Amino acid sequence: MKTYTVVGGGIAGLMTAWFLHKKNRLEAIYQPTESKGASSIAAGVINPITGKRFAKTWIADTLFPFAEKTYQEIEQTLSISFFSPIEVMRLAETMEQENDWHARTQSDSFASYICTKAVPKNIYTLLQPIASSFFIKGGYKLAVETLSENLLCYFKSEKKWVDAHFDTNKISNNVIFCTGMMNQNALPVIGVKGHYLVCEMPDLTVDFVVHGHATIIPQKNGLYRVGSTYQWAFENDEIEKVQVDFLTSGLKKTLRCEFKVIDALAGIRPTTADRRPLVGCIDVSKKHFALNGLGTKGYSLAPYFADMLVNHLTTDSAIIQEVSIAR
Ligand SMILES: Cc1cc2nc3c(=O)[nH]c(=O)nc-3n(C[C@H](O)[C@H](O)[C@H](O)COP(=O)(O)OP(=O)(O)OC[C@H]3O[C@@H](n4cnc5c(N)ncnc54)[C@H](O)[C@@H]3O)c2cc1C
Repeated sequence: MKTYTVVGGGIAGLMTAWFLHKKNRLEAIYQPTESKGASSIAAGVINPITGKRFAKTWIADTLFPFAEKTYQEIEQTLSISFFSPIEVMRLAETMEQENDWHARTQSDSFASYICTKAVPKNIYTLLQPIASSFFIKGGYKLAVETLSENLLCYFKSEKKWVDAHFDTNKISNNVIFCTGMMNQNALPVIGVKGHYLVCEMPDLTVDFVVHGHATIIPQKNGLYRVGSTYQWAFENDEIEKVQVDFLTSGLKKTLRCEFKVIDALAGIRPTTADRRPLVGCIDVSKKHFALNGLGTKGYSLAPYFADMLVNHLTTDSAIIQEVSIAR
């Protein structure tokens, strides 16, 4: 039976290795401990409705149940917990936004994401004045480090994890590159740099995401992540003061309560011009494949498209045109 080597242990590589392993088709997964990509920076939020105009995430009704099933299966197999539902409180600053949201609530396709939860009483004393607010349900939060560390350890126990850089000059067949921005294999991947702040907010004790000028995401340790920025022009992946200042100012426009920035993180998202992933073959003669271009939504896209790629390799099923590298 043909087996495959996965290069990269970000969320794309981990999910590809997971589905190959389930079919007994994983040769090895290469991921050096010392080198980390965008997946380790991500806040790990899966949000069904995003953007200023409250757009529904592309094929959310397909992606989200599949992601839920996959992450829960990993939790059970590894006896760990890293995946939980989370609600998002959207703050409407203008009447136009309020009207947009009202229009969404009339649409059947949004029904499963509209949450009628009452707003906690004291929250408005902690927020800057807003026109209104509403809750979105159907989202999730992943503890990304717990997932990554435990899944790599699991692959190690199965003698499949190689804690090393894969030499891309080495002649080898049946390789799946899940290398994000670090090795694009001539794929049309566009880097979009992003920053996050890690903050203390002693007065804020919420277990949901607050999305205003900044997005405030509760962490397990009582801290909050505040993000994120989008930069199409940048020189490296280092922290930039101007981006930290931008997020700090967004936080001041959102919150009235005290906060303290204790850390900042930055990473580069592998995006594409049409905002669709890149799935399939990159070199027929060498039998080289890729899953890349997961953009801003790696944690919701990776399970579904890793499974699609693995099924394509093992049963010759189709890769949908919208994400095919050949598109
Ligand atoms: C600030 C920020 C916030 C984000 N927040 C979210 C969020 O809340 N939710 C969400 O869904 N997405 C989020 N994202 C996007 C998400 O991080 C990406 O979509 C996702 O991480 C891409 O995963 P990947 O596996 O393709 O790439 P990466 O995570 O970059 O993984 C590539 C891996 O390949 C390895 N590699 C490269 N070359 C080799 C080699 N030759 N040998 C061995 N290993 C190699 C690298 O070390 C790296 O670990 C965020 C991104 C940023 C920057």
